[in-house]
Formats: sequence, C-alpha cells, structure tokens
Amino acid sequence: MSKTGYRIVLLPGDGIGPEVVAQGRRLIETVARTFGDQVTFEEHRIGGAAIEAEGTPLPRTTVEAARGADAVLLGSVGGPEWDHLAGDKRPEAGLLGIRKALGVYANLRPVRAYRPLLRSSTLKPEVLEGVDLLIVRELTGGLYFGDKRREEGPGGVRVVDELVYTTPEIERIVRLAFETARNTGRSVTSVDKANVLESSRHWREVVDRVARDYPEVPYRHMLVDNCAMQLIRDPRQFGVIVTENMFGDILSDEAAMLTGSIGMLPSASLGSGAGLYEPVHGSAPDIAGRGVANPLGTLLSVAMMYQYSLGRPRVAEAIVAAVERALEDGFRTPDLAGEAARVCGTDEMTEAVLERLQIVPE
Ligand code: NAD
Repeated sequence: MSKTGYRIVLLPGDGIGPEVVAQGRRLIETVARTFGDQVTFEEHRIGGAAIEAEGTPLPRTTVEAARGADAVLLGSVGGPEWDHLAGDKRPEAGLLGIRKALGVYANLRPVRAYRPLLRSSTLKPEVLEGVDLLIVRELTGGLYFGDKRREEGPGGVRVVDELVYTTPEIERIVRLAFETARNTGRSVTSVDKANVLESSRHWREVVDRVARDYPEVPYRHMLVDNCAMQLIRDPRQFGVIVTENMFGDILSDEAAMLTGSIGMLPSASLGSGAGLYEPVHGSAPDIAGRGVANPLGTLLSVAMMYQYSLGRPRVAEAIVAAVERALEDGFRTPDLAGEAARVCGTDEMTEAVLERLQIVPE
C-alpha cells in the first residue's frame, strides 16, 4: 500500500454545513491513519459565512485554494439571514461560482435504497427494494446559467431566463453518463422536454449520436414530467439518468425521498480539475447547531471522493459498507428515526460508521 499526500480543501459554509463537514474530516483522518497518508486540510469560507466575514459569497482565496486542491469537500450554503439579498450577492452565488471556477460540469448523485431504511421512506418497501440509480446532472449550463433579465415596461415587468446549451456541453455530459453506465452495467435514461424545448430536441440528437459508441448500453429518452412520475411508480427501472441542470436538480430531490431522507444523499461534481464533493441537502436552518444533522450524505460524499479523485475505490466501497452496517445495527439520526431505532446525534452516527469501517488493501 503506497502512502500518498493529499491536499483537501474544506468549505463548511452555513447552517449544518460546518457540523457535517467536521464529520467528513474525521472520516478522512481515520482513513489517512490506516494508510499513513499525509493529508493537508485547508478551510475556507463560502456562502453566508463569507458574506459576513468578507462581504462576498465567494472570496478569491477560496477559489484559489479550491483550484489547487486534490479534492474539495463542501457543506451547504444559505439561510434566512440572507434571504433579502438578490442575485450574485446571495450565498447560492458562492455555490454556482465555485462550480464554475472548478469547471465541474457533471454532478453525480447516486440514490440507493439501503435495506435497513426501507421503512423510513414514505413509499412502500417493496417498491424501493433494490433501488440503486445514479443521476448525472449537467451543472454549468442550462437554465441556471443562462442570461437573466428583468425589464420594466409600461405594461408591467417582463422577465427572461435563458436555457442555453452548445453541442460540446451536451456531448461531454452524455458521454460521461454512458461511460459510467458501461462501467457499472447499467442502462441510460436521457431525460428532457423535447415536446416543448428546442434545447431538448438537440439534446436528443446528441444522445442518439453518442449512444452509437456504446452499443452494449441500453438507452432510451424520457420526458421529464413522465420521469418524475416513474421515479415514484417504479424507481427500479432506472440505472443512469442523464439530464439538464434544472431537471436534474428537481429530480434528484424527488429521488432523495426514495432513501428516506435528503440527509442520506451524497454528490460528486466532476470536471477536468479538482472534484467537488457535497451532500445534496441544504443548510437546514431548522436543525442547525443542535448536533442532530444526519452526517451520512457527507460521509458518502467522502466515499465518492476516494472513488473519483483520490484513486481508492476500495475505500469508497468500505465506507458504503460501514454506513450500511451502522444502519443495520439500528443507528438513526432523528430524520431517519422509526420504530426500534437507536436515535443518535451527528457525532454518534459518525462514530458508529468509523467503528464499522473495514478497509481492505487496494
Ligand atoms: P434543506 O435541505 O436545508 O432542508 C430541508 C429539510 O430537510 C429540513 O427539514 C431539514 O431539517 C432537513 N434536512 C436537510 N439536511 C438534513 C440532514 N443532513 N439531516 C437531517 N435533516 C436534514 O432545504 P431548504 O430548507 O429548502 O433550504 C434551507 C437553506 O439551504 C436555504 O437557504 C437554501 O437556499 C439552502 N440550500 C443550499 C443547498 C446547498 O448548499 N447545496 C441546497 C439546497 C438548499
């Protein structure tokens, strides 16, 4: 086993962000002790915390540190304190800005129904059993990044949000989805709104062309409204879902409910440089500071970091297995609690995972 040096940038952000990022750091430190890795952590501000301290949601020092890192672990940004701010003054501008600065164009969101949690979801266990899908969301184009305009006229206000894609932007994300599907033996569902949107019609053309390079991967197109319905009706039919920025944002929150809690969902944002890893949930101001936030979305994001940025896929598998064992042994943060659960706080849940971590050599 070779020792390695990693530079990890931590961006805790707001609300429960600092609480869960601290747990991610504990996990990385535990893995580092096993391998004798030299890990350097650097912590920087983003979102509301950065607005308060430095007057901007994305300080230049944060961007520079993230660009020089092997991987970035982010908590969450936002909160009611900053709801009165507009546009690029808002905490969310920090999030969009760091994604853009790192050139991470693909957001991977695995959705897995853990057996011990089948009864934590509002859906029937028999619908959820075996769900193991991956949403690949385009992250730096589409509706969220198009021009936005607000024009005051004599007849009132006219507002515009543009949805723009170029062929290469679509092609690289679709190719990544097909590669991942091929490597994991899954099918591809490309989700769009081609009955209404010109951008979706072109998206379909690109998918059909890229698919020719992957004849062994079954694929299909699906309209986003149908996909929203099918995810609840029969989620097991999906392998890899690839889609536009806003569609992916909404579908992945919907899919979060297949796992029982949004606190369970990890994500990886990948491009040509440092990968950005973050739980899917927001800053959860309603529970911030109480030590009850579910850290598993963050711990599973660290697993993805080992898989995609740090070259240790076995560590990733070991983390996922340890999470499953902690759940099997009944550990539940309050968002997951049902009958017969060992309700625990953020620290205790992480401890339960660390105690069950069995890392086998790569
Ligand atoms: P949210 O995800 O913060 O919370 C939704 C619900 O889920 C809340 O009841 C919360 O308590 C619960 N929850 C979320 N994460 C949890 C966890 N780890 N453990 C236990 N429970 C958890 O979404 P929201 O309430 O719509 O947004 C709150 C703030 O977060 C807003 O300012 C929003 O803009 C921001 N936000 C940030 C991100 C991000 O940083 N990536 C994503 C979504 C929302």
